[in-house]
Formats: sequence, C-alpha cells, structure tokens
Amino acid sequence: MMEKAIVKKNDLCQVTIEDMGSDGEGIGKINGYTLFVKDAVIGDHIEAKIMKAKKNYAYAKLEKVLIPSSFRVQPRCVFHKQCGGCQIQALSYEKQLEFKQNKVKNNLIRIGGIDPNYLDLIMEEPVGMEEPFLYRNKAQFPLGKNKEGKPITGFYAGRTHTIIENTECALGVKENQKILEIVLNYMKDYQVEPYEEAEHKGLIRHVLIRKGFSTGQLMVCLVINENQLPKEEKLVQELCTVENMTSISLSVNKEKTNVIMGKKIRLLYGRPQIEDQIGGITFKISPLSFYQVNPIQTERIYSRALEYAMLTGEETVWDLYCGIGTISLFLAKKAKQVYGVEIIPQAIEDAKENAAGNRITNVSFYVGKAEEVLPEKYEKEGIYADVIVVDPPRKGCEEACLSTIVQMQPKRIVYVSCDSATLARDIKYLSERGYELKKAGIFDNFPQTTHVETVCLLSKLNVKQHMEINLDMDELDLNGDPETYLKAVTEDKPLD
Ligand code: SAH
Repeated sequence: MMEKAIVKKNDLCQVTIEDMGSDGEGIGKINGYTLFVKDAVIGDHIEAKIMKAKKNYAYAKLEKVLIPSSFRVQPRCVFHKQCGGCQIQALSYEKQLEFKQNKVKNNLIRIGGIDPNYLDLIMEEPVGMEEPFLYRNKAQFPLGKNKEGKPITGFYAGRTHTIIENTECALGVKENQKILEIVLNYMKDYQVEPYEEAEHKGLIRHVLIRKGFSTGQLMVCLVINENQLPKEEKLVQELCTVENMTSISLSVNKEKTNVIMGKKIRLLYGRPQIEDQIGGITFKISPLSFYQVNPIQTERIYSRALEYAMLTGEETVWDLYCGIGTISLFLAKKAKQVYGVEIIPQAIEDAKENAAGNRITNVSFYVGKAEEVLPEKYEKEGIYADVIVVDPPRKGCEEACLSTIVQMQPKRIVYVSCDSATLARDIKYLSERGYELKKAGIFDNFPQTTHVETVCLLSKLNVKQHMEINLDMDELDLNGDPETYLKAVTEDKPLD
C-alpha cells in the first residue's frame, strides 16, 4: 500500500533550514520528511506553505522568516526572489563560498569517486571576490511586452520566459540601464515591436551588451527576427551618445529557438570587436565569441591553469574549447608550442587576430569539435602533447575527446570546468585510465548565483600506481545514484 505524505498542498508548517540543495534551495525536515524551500537560507527558522507534496518530500514556499539565520543578509536587488539570475543573494558571501566549495567536493566524491580524506588534502582554498557585485561584463536582455502592451526588458524569472522588468541588475555594469532606455525609447518612437516567442512574431528579440573592463569599450548587438530595423540610423545616433560606444551590430535570428544569437552579424557602427586585457594580453571579442563574464576572476583562473601546467618553455600544449584563445595565449608565453581547438569559427578568427596582435607566434588554432579534431589529428598525424588543457561548456567533454586524450598520454591534464557534476564524471573516466587528481580549487566567477568554476590538475600515473588504483576502484561503493543526478544537471546550457 502507498504510504501517504505527512503534509498536503497549502498546509502551513514551521521548519528549520539545515542544508542547501545544489540549486540554492533551503532544505529542512519535519520528523524525517524533507521540505525543499526556495529562498530560505541555511539556519533560518521559517513558516513554509506546501506547494507540492510527494511521499518522502515536498516543495514549499517561504511564507515568513520567523527567526532569521545569522547567515542571512539584506539582498541588494528587490527582484532577487523572482528573477532567475541570482539564487542566493540573501546568503552572506562567506557562506556562499562555503556552499560552492561543498557542492564541488560532494560531486567529486559522489560522482568522481574521489576519496573524501584525500580530497581534503588536495582541495585549495576557495578564491572569492573582494566586491561580489557589478562584476559581469556581459548581459543579454530579452524584450517583451507588459500587460498594457508596452515594450519592456529585464531578465527571465526562474525556469520560465516571463520577463521580470528590471534594467538595473546588481551584477551588471551601470551602462546597461542607459543603453536599454535608448532601445526602449527607439521602439516606442518608431513602433518597433518586441519579439513574441509564442507567436513567433515581432522584431527585437534580445539586446546583448558587453563591456571591456580594462578599456571601457562598449558593444551593443541587437538580435532581431528580420533582416533589418526601421530607421536603424536613428537608433545608432542615440546609442552613440553613450560614452565609449565602440561597436553596434545586428544579429539576425529568425529561428524558433531558445538559442539567443543568430549565426551572422551585420555591423551598424564602429568596429566589429571590442577589446579587453587580461594578464597583459589584449583580446578582441566579437559578439558571437565566448568570453568569460567575470574578468577579475578569470585572470585568477588562467594564472592557476598556468601554475598547474608547470611549463618550462619546452612543452607542447593543447588547449581544447579555446574560445578566442585566452588560455592558449596565456600559456604560450611559457610553452614551446600551443594548439587551440574551438567550434565557433568567429571565435577562432578572433583567436588568430589576438595571437598576431600580441605578437605571439607559437600558437595555431583549429576550428571544429574537440571530439572530432583531436581524434582525427591523432590518428592521421600522431600529434603529441605534454599538457592538455580543457575548458568545455556545461555538458563536459565527449568520451571521444577523453579517450583520445588518454591515448595521447600527456603528463598533465588541466581541467577548467563550469559544471562540477560533469567535471566529476570526466575525472572518474580519466582516473580509471591512468590519471590521478592532484589538485582542485574553486573560483567564484558568479557571486550571488549557485554557479562556480573549478580548476583541476590531473597527472599521469606510472604503470604500477595505475594498477593499484584500479584495484581500489573495484571496491568503491558510490552512495546515491550518480547517473540520475548527472542526467538532471547536464542539460546543455552554455553558462554565459
Ligand atoms: N577557454 C575559453 C572558452 C571556454 S567556454 C575561455 O576561457 O574563454 C567553452 C568554449 O567551448 C566556447 O567557446 C564554446 O564555443 C566551445 N565549444 C563548445 N562545444 C565545443 C566542442 N564540442 N568542441 C570545441 N569547442 C566547443
């Protein structure tokens, strides 16, 4: 007989939040029955309203904080609960870092099969930000209409495409607001309709804004559902009143898709790229290229990757998922030769230009999927690597890529990851094939959110060590069900 849940929909109950789930939700228990409560902070004593009750657990809504946690802080943004951008603004920054460190540790233990005591020895101190707001150099604002039919912009509410009207994001740059006002006024003046997803009609879909933090240069790219905008020159004229406006372009996207950018860019004003500097290297960035959103933390990540690569000047290095060649150029200063691989052609064009612009000659770049380019080059040309760096999107590396890495037998693998669940899965694969996790450290590139970057060093074991480890692995008993968990977290969403 099915046991019944001890609570039912709309029940009010009091509970103390004892833990936090990987999406930042508070977790509390009533006589062993688990409640998941969004917006509740660890340590809070709350009143919660049951929204959906299952046999062993329920989802509940935070009704009232009865006794606030000592880790609870005043959030800066009034929309922090509705907006899908931030999940943990009400948690003190120190506790946010602890939460992220634990999240990565748990994944490395549960999914990666790493021994907890060993992990304690090799895990580095978390690297957080001194000022964990206004750090994002990029934002993509969706356009829509409010109930009165007026064009609005802001951010999507969590898990939906409902727009929370807000042009003053606490994570973004101050110029966003002025640029968005100009776009909204232009739409009003010339009756330009925002795109409506449901009916696949209307014109402006998104506004992408990017700023080079070290140069101040601004880029605006409007994603539109037609080939052109009415009175383009009027919009350009207004946008040029914003100081440091460097690049204004259009991206045509007529597809019924969640993918924001279209494949082609048409320049309306200025230069096709903006520039930024990281670690003394100047990077040119196109609208379609990936570029890390938090330049302060990125410099720290690249320095750690360089440290883990242990280069002496003699090494051949492969940088897979190289984007505009950021890590490649960082490493090239200390390596004999670097090869970068990246799927987006425009990013590779930027990468080549960046190498030339910085007079770095010991790098070559290839366009293509890492899981195709690497095996092909290995089989046809027998390519070699002393060190391989990977920095894949959230879904991690394809097995074809990992298996070629194993065949290539580099001395070290440096894994930069924005999703610790897939990182842990890939580390398990590599640990079963002769590599050992030597170091792991987290970098908080996304304060106020549950996201985190991790950098790991894996080294090749000698044959004897490899055999001993494999014997241990056979006896490992993983708690829980990592497969199901992985499936849930590995939706292929780019974290940008
Ligand atoms: N290392 C770069 C980029 C990391 S983001 C930096 O730090 O800036 C991940 C990159 O992988 C993106 O540029 C994305 O376009 C690229 N990418 C996604 N899937 C890929 C694949 N299968 N093969 C190669 N590159 C891929």
